[in-house]
Amino acid sequence: MFTRDFSYLDEVHICPRCQTAMSCCEAPPVHVGDGLGWGSEVLFICLNNECPVFKNGWQHIELQYGHRGSYRCMQLPGSKEQNVMMVASEYAFTGSIIDTEAVKMQNTRYVKEQEAVIALDTCVEGHNLEPIMTLILDESARLVNRQKAVACLRQLNDLSCIDPIRNHTFRDTSLTQECGMIISEILKAHFKKECPHCAELIKAQAQKCMHCKADL
Ligand SMILES: [Zn+2]
Ligand SMILES: [Zn+2]
Repeated sequence: MFTRDFSYLDEVHICPRCQTAMSCCEAPPVHVGDGLGWGSEVLFICLNNECPVFKNGWQHIELQYGHRGSYRCMQLPGSKEQNVMMVASEYAFTGSIIDTEAVKMQNTRYVKEQEAVIALDTCVEGHNLEPIMTLILDESARLVNRQKAVACLRQLNDLSCIDPIRNHTFRDTSLTQECGMIISEILKAHFKKECPHCAELIKAQAQKCMHCKADL
């Protein structure tokens, strides 16, 4: 429900002509031949320069069309049907290879963010810190979602949020400030403070830290 169809990420295509693995590439915006496009964002293309289709294509195109170019074997996601793409140089498509592992990771992160945003609606009444922390600590999440999480953090008033926030570096300084303020409020509400020497939580009125034994 949150994602586009990323099922192609797990597909393996082997070039039927040279038996090497085909590369998952971004589809060019328009298929020059028919102007209709391929109906797919990605194409699997054999980028092996030793592939017979590519090696023999130069001569074929020279004879047929009188210009420089060749062919690459191509398959669409979800299909083993063999197609060829005309390419003007050996470098065509080499710059648009998709890092499928990176896309998978981005997609996983995105789904987690969306699930956390939904869970925010019930996190205060359910006393569930997890979606709040997921969003606050995710530097790739949308700022507006992280700010919603920060608002819930204040309401939840849970001491266990302090450690992970203190150990996190925010790129957005407004979040650093906001979280710092909330931590002060939470500490106050629990009659606690952070030891200035070891950062452990101690009683607000303590004279000596029970963790590092420092005098305060
Ligand atoms: Zn091939
Ligand atoms: Zn201490």
